[in-house]
Amino acid sequence: MLGDMGSSVFSPSIAPVAPTVTDPVDVLVIDDSEDDRDLYARLLKPGVQVQTVDFASDGEEGLARYHDRPTDCVLLDFNMPGDDGLAVLERLKAIDPHVAVVMMTGEGNENIAVAAMKAGAMDYVVKDRITASVLLRAIVNATEKAALVRKIAAQHEEQVNFIRILVHDVRAPLRGLTGFSDMLAEDLEAGTYEDVPDHLDMIKLSATRLNALVDTLAHYALLDGKMAHEKVDMNDVVIQALDNLRLVIDERHAQVDVAILPCATGSGPELAQLLQNLIGNGIKYNDRVAPTITISVKSDGDEQIFVVEDNGIGIPEAKLTAIFRPFERLWSRDVYEGTGLGLAICRKIIERHDGRIWCESEVGSGSRFCFTLPAV
Ligand code: ADP
Repeated sequence: MLGDMGSSVFSPSIAPVAPTVTDPVDVLVIDDSEDDRDLYARLLKPGVQVQTVDFASDGEEGLARYHDRPTDCVLLDFNMPGDDGLAVLERLKAIDPHVAVVMMTGEGNENIAVAAMKAGAMDYVVKDRITASVLLRAIVNATEKAALVRKIAAQHEEQVNFIRILVHDVRAPLRGLTGFSDMLAEDLEAGTYEDVPDHLDMIKLSATRLNALVDTLAHYALLDGKMAHEKVDMNDVVIQALDNLRLVIDERHAQVDVAILPCATGSGPELAQLLQNLIGNGIKYNDRVAPTITISVKSDGDEQIFVVEDNGIGIPEAKLTAIFRPFERLWSRDVYEGTGLGLAICRKIIERHDGRIWCESEVGSGSRFCFTLPAV
């Protein structure tokens, strides 16, 4: 079990998975002393906390092993011929910046322990005072620390990525605003008025797109706050979503068939937003004269699976996961308007409700968005 990455304030794309003491870990021991390796083998019997223990008798072998099969934790002897523990640690970190290393030092080597921690070791153990419980505690501690660091690094990367795309998406309508305002100014200066209505329309369109982006973004960011956990009647939730979509439903002559739905636990407004996004997409990404959306539910053990099915354009199989990422869009805004945040919002809402969301689809036939909520 290698520690996974977590979700960030902005992006929900990766579920947080931090190892706990109950997750057995894979350990790699790098130690030149055969006696010490034997001792570790005796102390680290595979069981509740340890899954596997692999051994390397020097730095080179250890690095090659970790490169081929990264483990959750590395027990690294400081005192080895050739590269010492610190040098191996540096090279391990070049392979994996968040490697969980426990430096094994000798009695009286506190300064080495300090240097190891500064160099990025997650913990250290004094060899002479070793017991199974000391060793296991250090392994669990180092593994959990590394998972946390990994999670924070992943969150940071996601945020940077999010902001990069956001800046790009904000720039496009801004460019429209300045570009068409310049053209409008030129029209007026030259006294040629035939393009004025078009240029005004384009300015309005850019402003509308910018507005939609800011609104959706605010919505997305607000989903990080506290959430109500109350009993909600999903039939009322659907009615709320349909009320919000009334205009577009009438405009597109859409038909929405809703089964009788059960109650769920969570936030009514958030679940209404979720259904509004899914139904709205089912109508938007639909070229039929009369789009049809069907909402149903089925029970699966202690879960309820809600299904929002449309007869729209469908989604290629290769994109079925990507569409839930922020700003992921399959069409240009000239074909279908949108910010690319609708499904990212849905995913965030569902994760806040301890559920799962996924999509099944066939291009040309339609899509089926499924999400789970714990049964009440
Ligand atoms: P958008 O604001 O672009 O609609 P979403 O996050 O809601 O953003 O959806 C992401 C992308 O997934 C859309 O741009 C579209 O390409 C695709 N998509 C979402 N829902 C559907 C659907 N029901 N049918 C076909 N494609 C869809």
